[in-house]
Amino acid sequence: MQKTLHALIELQELDNRLDELLDERGDLPRIVNEFEEKLSAKKDEVEKLEAEIKSSKLRIKEIELFGAESKEKLEKYNDQLYQVKTNREYDAITIEIESVQKTKKDYDSELISLTSSLEAKEGTLSDLESEIAKISEELSENKVELDASLEETAEEENSLNKKRKKLLGNLSRHVYNSYENIRKARNGKGIATIDNGTCKGCFSYIPPQKVVEVRKMKKIHECESCGRILVWSE
Ligand SMILES: [Zn+2]
Repeated sequence: MQKTLHALIELQELDNRLDELLDERGDLPRIVNEFEEKLSAKKDEVEKLEAEIKSSKLRIKEIELFGAESKEKLEKYNDQLYQVKTNREYDAITIEIESVQKTKKDYDSELISLTSSLEAKEGTLSDLESEIAKISEELSENKVELDASLEETAEEENSLNKKRKKLLGNLSRHVYNSYENIRKARNGKGIATIDNGTCKGCFSYIPPQKVVEVRKMKKIHECESCGRILVWSE
C-alpha cells in the first residue's frame, strides 16, 4: 500500500504540472474552438444561400423565356385578328389573347418579386462573405498563438504523460478511479497531506488517531470532509 500511496503522490505532482501547462494556454483552445464553430456555421449558411440564388436565377431565366414566348404568341394572334372573317373566329382569338395576357402578367409579377429577393439574397451573401473573412482572420491569429504555445510545451507534456502512464501501472483501477473522481470534483487535487492535524486540502480537523494511521501509509484513508485521499509527506 505504501507503494500505491507514493505513486499517488507522484501522480498528483505530475497532474499539477499538466494542469499548470493547461492553465498557461488559458482560453486559447476554447476561443479557437468557438471561432471554428462560428466559421463552419457561416459556411453552411453560404452554401444554403448559394443554392437558393442558383435556383432563383434558373427560374428567372425560365420566366424570361416564357415571357418572350408569350410576346411572340400575342403578336401572332394580333396579326390573325386582322385576317378573321367571322365573329366566331374573332371571339376565339380574343379569348386566346386574354389568356396569354393573363399568363404574361403572372410571369411579370413573379419576375419582379424574384428579382428583388435575388438582390436581397446577394446582399446577404456578400455580408456573409465579409463576416467569414473576418472570422477566418481571427481564427488564424488565435491558432498561431495556440500552436506556438502547444509547441513550447509539447516536449514537457509528452514526458509527463509518459511518466504518468508508467505510474498508472502501479495503481489498481479502483484506487486510480477514486483519485480521478475526487480530482475532478475537488479542483484538480485528489490527495491531501496533513498539516498540524488538519487536511491541507480543506483545512478540516483530522482526529489524532487518524493522523497516526495516515502516517503509517498502510491503508487508504480519506478526509471525511473533502473526500481526498490522505497521504503523509515529511
Ligand atoms: Zn479534506
